[in-house]
Formats: sequence, C-alpha cells, structure tokens
Amino acid sequence: MDGTRVVSESATHQGVFVGAPTLHVHRIAAPATWPWLPTRKGGPMLQHPYCEVCGLIKAIGSERPLKRGGIVNLVAALSERFTATGRKVTEAQRRLINKKLTALQVEDTFAYTRASQLAVFVQVFGDYTGIPKDIVVSHMEKL
Ligand SMILES: [Zn+2]
Repeated sequence: MDGTRVVSESATHQGVFVGAPTLHVHRIAAPATWPWLPTRKGGPMLQHPYCEVCGLIKAIGSERPLKRGGIVNLVAALSERFTATGRKVTEAQRRLINKKLTALQVEDTFAYTRASQLAVFVQVFGDYTGIPKDIVVSHMEKL
C-alpha cells in the first residue's frame, strides 16, 4: 500500500525538508539495488527499499512511522490529557490538527521515519493549540 501514496511538496525525510515538489506514486526499485542502512542508531544493517522516482528511502522496522489510526489516536490521547490538566484542546482544534497531518502525509513510509513524523506531529499540535513544543513533548512521553 505504501507504493501507491502520493508525496506532497512538504514531505520531509529523516528530519530534512524536501523542498522540490515530488508529486508522484512511489515506485520501489529492484531489490538488488537496495542500500544497506542501519534501522536505528547502532542497530543492525538491513537492505532498505527505495523509490526509483524520487530516491526516498522507505522506513522499515522500528523506524516506520505510525499509521493513520495511530496518529489519530495520539491526537486524541494528547488532547484528552491536556484537557484533563486544564489546557482545553477543543474538538475543532483536534480536527484541524488531523487535517494538517493528513495534508502533510505523515504516514508516508518513504517520506518519514518515526522520529521525523513525531517531530512534525509536535510542531503541528503546538501550532494549533498554542502549547509550547517542549510541553507537548513532555506530555507525549507520559502517555
Ligand atoms: Zn517516490
């Protein structure tokens, strides 16, 4: 399913902004050409699929970004946690956050790793709620 997703111009890869518009459907290159890369810092080397059109490397294993359902659940859990502690996150704010994250295609396994996805998540959540990023991060860690 990951090969059928279209990448937006605002996609990031491993925290690096990809500036040029890359609107296309990812096409996985021949397995013999896949580069060997660590799955995480100090982790084992594994061959990573990549897109032969844009060159983005697909996140695999523990670096895979959360799927759409996981993102929606994270928005809900974090909103409830803030609301319970007196910093109300409204239904409208939640909808805007989910809409923005969908527009950024943060579940694209070619454009994001788990870490870069969560960095964007924190940025968007903070932008729409006015809650400082470091506070968003500290509450996420307690979920
Ligand atoms: Zn591609």
